[in-house]
Amino acid sequence: MNSTATQVRMIRQADLIPPEDTGAAIARPACVLLMSGGVESSTLLYGLADTDQIHPIFLDYGQRAAVQEWRAVKRIAATRNITPRRFDLSAFGNAVGALRTERYHVPLPHRNFVAIAAVASIASNLKVHEIIIGLTADDATADPCSRLPFQRAIRDALASLSLRLDTPYDGLTKAEVVKRGCRLGVPWETSYSCLLGRAEHCGYCPQCQKRRAAFTAAGVSQQDVRYNR
Ligand SMILES: [Zn+2]
Repeated sequence: MNSTATQVRMIRQADLIPPEDTGAAIARPACVLLMSGGVESSTLLYGLADTDQIHPIFLDYGQRAAVQEWRAVKRIAATRNITPRRFDLSAFGNAVGALRTERYHVPLPHRNFVAIAAVASIASNLKVHEIIIGLTADDATADPCSRLPFQRAIRDALASLSLRLDTPYDGLTKAEVVKRGCRLGVPWETSYSCLLGRAEHCGYCPQCQKRRAAFTAAGVSQQDVRYNR
């Protein structure tokens, strides 16, 4: 068996989260972690052990909140003494978005499809075989790229490239991720979820509403970030 096959087999034996949710980080192979600075990717970053070789990746694809999201990624990564990388796909995102007359907060249809392809390229050049993305069970009800058939197909496609896609939170709701993040000590005030890209969360866009609902459902009493309403 060649070294790449051996490495992939080793990677397949690792799991990010232990079967019982202890909130403790466990060691795993080197990985690329797609980050947006929101609840899920921040919790994933804190769920990885200090000993892991973690490559946080941020993609600017022309989303309205790109500046604030990147700022959040840098701040959260800094609390773990990790330097994230930003990749600028904004020209592509803006050009695709310009094909429509309406303006959307997120310009790319099938965004996760594009993001996974981009991260696969990045991982290959970093010689990393593990890609981690913070999809939740809630995402699977809304986004076709987060549903099981697509996930199964994209996993198979990546496996043919000796890459492994791991979505450790795909069985959890956003509220359950919040609970896990609280146990891991995620500094929520540094994270960012709003679609509008203002300095403070607007409080009424779909992402702000999901965030607030998740924190309420998780029973987190303190205000995690400031909302404008
Ligand atoms: Zn908002």
